[in-house]
Amino acid sequence: MADKFMNDEVSYDARFDPKLAPRYSEIATFLRAPLVTDFDRELAGVDIALAGVPYDGGVTNRPGARHGPREIRNQSSLMRSIHHVTRIDPHALCRVADVGDVRFSAVMNNDAARAEIRDFFERVHAVRALPLSAGGDHSVTYPILEAIARERPVGVVHIDAHTDTWGELQGSKFNHGSPFRLAVEDGLIDPTRMIQIGIRGAQNAEDGWQYSLDKGMRVIFIEEFEDLGVEAVIAEARRVVGDGPTYVSFDVDGLDPVFAPGTGTPEVGGLTMREAQRLLRGLRGLNLIGGDVVEVAPPFDQTGNTALVGATLMYEILCLLAEARAGARSG
Ligand code: MN
Ligand code: MN
Repeated sequence: MADKFMNDEVSYDARFDPKLAPRYSEIATFLRAPLVTDFDRELAGVDIALAGVPYDGGVTNRPGARHGPREIRNQSSLMRSIHHVTRIDPHALCRVADVGDVRFSAVMNNDAARAEIRDFFERVHAVRALPLSAGGDHSVTYPILEAIARERPVGVVHIDAHTDTWGELQGSKFNHGSPFRLAVEDGLIDPTRMIQIGIRGAQNAEDGWQYSLDKGMRVIFIEEFEDLGVEAVIAEARRVVGDGPTYVSFDVDGLDPVFAPGTGTPEVGGLTMREAQRLLRGLRGLNLIGGDVVEVAPPFDQTGNTALVGATLMYEILCLLAEARAGARSG
């Protein structure tokens, strides 16, 4: 590989293959994927679209997740290609691209911003690219599901400290505590094919917890997670979602704040990063249609580790999506 860089006959473009270039060089992109700069012309042919949703108009407490995509791109400079356990190279299996951020023109208007997020992912969905996004607060998952789950309700593997099935807050049903309730109400999610993992922390009302249970979601509080262990939780997740289309939504506050302090609503006593990585690897072979990593809030991320965690979770999910897409292509 070194010879390639020493060879004067190598083309200019080959020198700047983002996977071969020095990792600290060039414009930072998600997981060092090539950047799509002309969304209209270049989107067709992308298998997996890595996208940023720099929006935190739905937070109930500390803002800052709007800065998540940029810092996850920065920390993505540390990422490499071949998975050390599965030996998957997602970039070799599929055409993976960073398609940029949702282009907001009315971010101060929550309803308009939600529509802009939905419209962006509708365009990704129209070319049959699988979306893998970086938030943003968790409200963004609802308009993403509006874009990709209209044809039929989907299953969801949801890792979070919070069920995010709460109702209206401060005058809006569109907030980061409600995306999955809105999606169930719209028929975008089959709640009996949804599992919520890592739930914990005191609440001032029981409404959200109860809503999940009433709708038939499988809710695994952190105590049950610890009692069952990772492998049994994986088996339960696979049982719940089955072989139907399934979305993965990872809120970094599902992790213990030791691993992910840079988030708006931290809850102590959460998953370790190793547990999260093993959990995600246990989802290989499912019929996965997209995913997101949300609630990375760089203003609270003193060391940058939460953004590195965010990039690493995106990489784990990317490997799953790449296998799913490559399998669907060959099967
Ligand atoms: Mn959440
Ligand atoms: Mn949360």
